[in-house]
Amino acid sequence: MPLDQARHHALPPEEVVPFSDDASGASGVIVLHSTALGPAAGGCRLWHYASDQQATQDALRLAEGMALKNALADLPFGGGKAVLRLPEGPFDREALFRSLGGVVRSLRGRYVTAEDVGTGVADMEVVAQETHHVAGLPPRGGKPGGDPSPWTALGVAQAMQVAVRHRLGASLSDVTVGVQGLGHVGYALCELLHDMGARLVVAEPRSEIAARAADRFGAMVMSSRALLSARVDVLAPCALGGVLDAATVDGLKAQLVCGAANNQLASEDVAERLAGRGVLYAPDFLVNAGGIVNVAGEYLGWGAAEVRQRVMAIGRRLADTLARAERDGVVPHQAARAIALDRIAAAPRVQAAA
Ligand code: NAD
Repeated sequence: MPLDQARHHALPPEEVVPFSDDASGASGVIVLHSTALGPAAGGCRLWHYASDQQATQDALRLAEGMALKNALADLPFGGGKAVLRLPEGPFDREALFRSLGGVVRSLRGRYVTAEDVGTGVADMEVVAQETHHVAGLPPRGGKPGGDPSPWTALGVAQAMQVAVRHRLGASLSDVTVGVQGLGHVGYALCELLHDMGARLVVAEPRSEIAARAADRFGAMVMSSRALLSARVDVLAPCALGGVLDAATVDGLKAQLVCGAANNQLASEDVAERLAGRGVLYAPDFLVNAGGIVNVAGEYLGWGAAEVRQRVMAIGRRLADTLARAERDGVVPHQAARAIALDRIAAAPRVQAAA
């Protein structure tokens, strides 16, 4: 696909599956954005949403992101996402995830679920009592499995290394990285960056976790808002999405943004705004694919060595994407989208339908 078309070419989702179950209190939606390259794979988010419409909007956005991410990572998967609305007040968590498992089962392998924000390994074990189409389960016999976050962090660190070399002509031991959010991925990323010699500045609302990072990594702690305009070389958003809007971008002092959070751009035009200010934005759906690579390895039965090799390839993939962006005169975000959309469009089922 020509790069100038890629920006506007948002594919419509193949299927939107709303569900609700009064008995368990489960309410949410599964979006199958695309199954052209294989089953729609993407985790389940459990989060507060003011309305069903808001939950669906989030699922649509996240599922499209998964389709792009899986295609770009060269996985035999389409893209999908489940969103569960966090019930008001106390609820039976096991019943909630059993209910989700039933909906996943009804899709007969067209959707594969795993963890995302708000869900964990124990939840996926409940889902697994209802369906085989789930990953992120405890690893068995040295095989891939379990919490995908360390793999996501490894992929981000690989990409950051490449981006720092490309944009600053430096290595990680020369730079200061601001990590926003010290959850599963952010904290693991800090460990890797600290080991690679980077200086760290962190923001995390759970003060005990921030204090631990200060203690273990010598990290400077600041508020999340202050971090967005702090004098750091690299900003690594690792909390929720939408963090890069026009105002944030105008205040950025970092020359590079490379982090794990999904959908970091509040809107697509922010990619150009970042470039206009001389900030290299490493596309989120390219750099944060390590977790889904591990999920794929678990679901498809790969060995740990293959998972590691594919996660380590994220750095090279970013280098290739940066080269293509420069060659074609577009921002890396658009180059990455175009590569992913080309792969989806070239899938045999899409050709057969055309
Ligand atoms: P998490 O819930 O474990 O961590 C999020 C952290 O961000 C928490 O510690 C939370 O307290 C903190 N936080 C919340 N609001 C904040 C704010 N305003 N400023 C700073 N910190 C804030 O989630 P996670 O699994 O670490 O995922 C982080 C991001 O990476 C999410 O956007 C997720 O979708 C994305 N992601 C995760 C994976 C994975 O393998 N877990 C894979 C790909 C993408």
